[in-house]
Amino acid sequence: MKINILDTTLRDGEQTPGVSLTSNEKLRIARALDEIGVNIIEAGSAITSDGEKLAIREITSQDLDAEIASFARSIQSDIDVCLDCGVDTVNLVVPTSDIHIDYKLKSSRLQVQNEMVENIEYAKDHGLTVELSAEDASRTDMDFLVDTFKLALDAKADRLCPCDTVGVLTPERSFDFYRELSKLNAKLSVHCHNDYGLAVANSLQAIRAGASEVHGTINGIGERAGNASLEEIVVSLNNLYEGKYTTDIKINQLYNTSIIVSRSTGVYIQPNKAIVGENVFAHESGIHTDGVIKNTSTYESITPELLGRRRKFVVGKHTGTKGLNNRLSELGIEVNKEQLNTIFKQVKEFADNGKCVTDVDLQAIADNVLEKDMQQKVNLEEVTIVSGNKITPTASVRLKIDQDEILEAGIGLGPVDAAINAVKKSINEFANVKLDEYHVDAITGGTDALIDVIVKVSMDDKVISARGTGSDIINASVEAYLTGVNRLLENEDNL
Ligand code: MN
Repeated sequence: MKINILDTTLRDGEQTPGVSLTSNEKLRIARALDEIGVNIIEAGSAITSDGEKLAIREITSQDLDAEIASFARSIQSDIDVCLDCGVDTVNLVVPTSDIHIDYKLKSSRLQVQNEMVENIEYAKDHGLTVELSAEDASRTDMDFLVDTFKLALDAKADRLCPCDTVGVLTPERSFDFYRELSKLNAKLSVHCHNDYGLAVANSLQAIRAGASEVHGTINGIGERAGNASLEEIVVSLNNLYEGKYTTDIKINQLYNTSIIVSRSTGVYIQPNKAIVGENVFAHESGIHTDGVIKNTSTYESITPELLGRRRKFVVGKHTGTKGLNNRLSELGIEVNKEQLNTIFKQVKEFADNGKCVTDVDLQAIADNVLEKDMQQKVNLEEVTIVSGNKITPTASVRLKIDQDEILEAGIGLGPVDAAINAVKKSINEFANVKLDEYHVDAITGGTDALIDVIVKVSMDDKVISARGTGSDIINASVEAYLTGVNRLLENEDNL
């Protein structure tokens, strides 16, 4: 059974607190939604502002494949603005619960029905498709709701959408509710909010009970706790119902669309968000990683390929050597057993300090271990720093140059400067190495972060970049400098 998708990212999604899209952003999102096969795009609420009107008009002028809809209240002037914008469809929203009728509209059940019939007829007379949304339907007296829907059908409304406006349905109630309404033999849509985290479950139950269209937003953004997440619904329908339901959505483009929406709206996607979160295909634990490498279905029920994404092995406290080796080869780093063990040890130390090892961290740790393996002319044995308030920063270093041990001291403007000066002095006899550039980065943030130092050093007319990594900024700096010195000296020997 084919399920149609109405995406309301540009209307309900834009009602997310703090979100306001420019007309360019709206257009970009509308194009992306059309591209992935959304059947109906609710482009906004035309009556809201002149800017909104322009944005909707821009979208309707694009000749997209999707049906373009605008939200409208049950007021003739709202429908007129929708007509102005050239939309195909109005999502005519009529509050049906007594709470809404009494307190919001200060009207009566009868008046609401009469106005609704008038406005459906007006919209139909002007060539619009009408989706009649009963606002707060899940808290509406059932007899009144059914009666209202019957009147809407008599007035030739095309589709009916009983909305769970405040997200109070449970999966069980959603099924019963839709089963009852399916007796009307009309096209039913489902519109759920996520106040209890049940929006997707409730939408799926509505579909099981007979709804043929589902409303959702990309990343589940929307008022309060948001709407049903479109990507979760689509992938669930695709994977979990044994082929019973199909949609027109190109699943492998959902992730890209999610990123576009997240960037435009500024609404961050939580890392553990189903389908599109950063961690969805990340494996850290040693046992899990080992299993996934042997057979991905051991710990994955959704394949990253389905979503056009990639599997990630995150290295951390729970990583085993197999997972680590696998991650290193994915990064293009080949190591022998001994190097692997050294890297493994450093990763564990790093993780034990409460840090997660990202790919960049891992790359830095591995580079460092691999570089250390090379025979070096100048090796650092010891560095001592005296630094503080009202003290001239002073460093002493003990270096091993070939077989000789050299002890030297230096002062500087700061501790790093002092240490580098001490090293410079000790190698001065045979190499005049200048430090041209010095760049330091705390890779993962925080004062306990891994420090990455990159230097550019030169001797005569040769320039070389080198890096040093560690949790101590002085050691990392001296290491970077010495790596550069050794490389320059190696070049010298080769000449
Ligand atoms: Mn809504």
